[in-house]
Amino acid sequence: REAHETMPTYKGLEQYKLIEKMGDGAFSNVYKAIDASTGEKVAVKVVRKYELSASQAGDDKHLNKEFKKKPRVTERANILKEVQIMRGINNPSIVKLLLFFESKEHYFLVLELMEGGELFHQIVKMTYFSESLARHVILQVAEGIKYLHEERGVVHRDIKPENLLFQRIPIIPSHNPLPSQFGDEQKEDEGQFVPGVGGGGIGKVKIADFGLSKVVWDEQTKTPCGTVGYTAPEIVRDERYSKSVDMWAVGCVLYTLLCGFPPFYDEKIDELTRKVAMGHYTFLSPWWDSISASAKDLITHLLCVDPAQRYTITEFLDHPWCQASAIPPPAP
Ligand code: ADP
Ligand code: MG
Repeated sequence: REAHETMPTYKGLEQYKLIEKMGDGAFSNVYKAIDASTGEKVAVKVVRKYELSASQAGDDKHLNKEFKKKPRVTERANILKEVQIMRGINNPSIVKLLLFFESKEHYFLVLELMEGGELFHQIVKMTYFSESLARHVILQVAEGIKYLHEERGVVHRDIKPENLLFQRIPIIPSHNPLPSQFGDEQKEDEGQFVPGVGGGGIGKVKIADFGLSKVVWDEQTKTPCGTVGYTAPEIVRDERYSKSVDMWAVGCVLYTLLCGFPPFYDEKIDELTRKVAMGHYTFLSPWWDSISASAKDLITHLLCVDPAQRYTITEFLDHPWCQASAIPPPAP
C-alpha cells in the first residue's frame, strides 16, 4: 500500500521499526512493524492522546499556549478501556494485544499482526463470497462473539468488515460473480482457485478494534456491571439487548458477504437512518436469486428490528445454515 512512503517516527517507539501503514482512523494509525530486538513482525496501533481541532491540525506552529497547557482529551481517551478489555481476552478469533505503553503524546498498542488486512477489501476485490466461503468467515467471527458474549460479558459494538481481519492474504477460490449492483467493472483478479478446498482455504479471520466495546456483564459476580442488587429491570434487560447489537451487525456482515452490497444503503443519511429503523431491506434480484432459503432465513432472524426477537449468538450457531459446515458424524 504505502510501502515506499517514508514512515513517521514516534518518540517512545524506537524499539519498533515501522514498515508500512496498514490502516488509519480519526485518532489512530496502524503500522506493520518489526520488533528490533526479537525480529518479530507485529502491528502497532498509535493513538494520539490529544485532539487537535480542525484549525490546529497540521499547523503545529500556531497551537496556542492555552491549548498546549490544557490539551483536550480525545474521544479515544477510552483507549484505556479498549486496552483493559483486550487484556482480558484470549481467543483464536480475536486479535491479541501483545503490549501496551505510552509516551507523552501517544498510546501504543502492539498487536498480533493480521497480514491479510480487512475483510472489507476482500469483499471489494471479489464482489461477493460463495455460501461456503461466507460460512467459513462468519463462523470464525461468531466463535469470537460467542466468547465475548458468554465468557467475558463483553459487547463489541463495532462489528463491521473494516474491523474483521485476515491473518494471511487469503487465497480465494474463484467463482463467476454477477456484476456488482453498482455497475462497477468486473474484477478479474479473484485469486487462485484451490481445487478440492471448497471454501476452506481462506484462512483465519479475527475480530479487531475494541474501541467501542463495553463490559455489560460481570462474569465474576454473575450480575450486570456496576450494580449490587438494586438492579432495575431495564438494566438487566439492557445486558441482553446490548449483546443483540453485535448480532444485528453479524446479520449485516453476512448479508454483505453473500451479495457484495450492504442490506441498508442510501446516499441520504436521513433516508438510510429511516430504512435501518424500520428494518427495510430486501433480498434484491438477481443477486439473491441463487442464494439458499436457509441463508435468507438466518439473515431474517438477525436483521430483526425487535432485539428481543433477534437471534442470540447461540441461536445463530444452532441454525441449520451454520450447522451445514459441521463435520459429518462418522458412518456407523
Ligand atoms: P480505529 O479505532 O481507528 O478504527 P482499528 O483498531 O480498527 O482502529 O484499526 C484501524 C485499521 O488498521 C483497521 O481497520 C485495519 O485495517 C488496520 N489494523 C488494525 N489492527 C490491525 C492488526 N492487528 N493487523 C493488521 N492491520 C490492523
Ligand atoms: Mg476500526
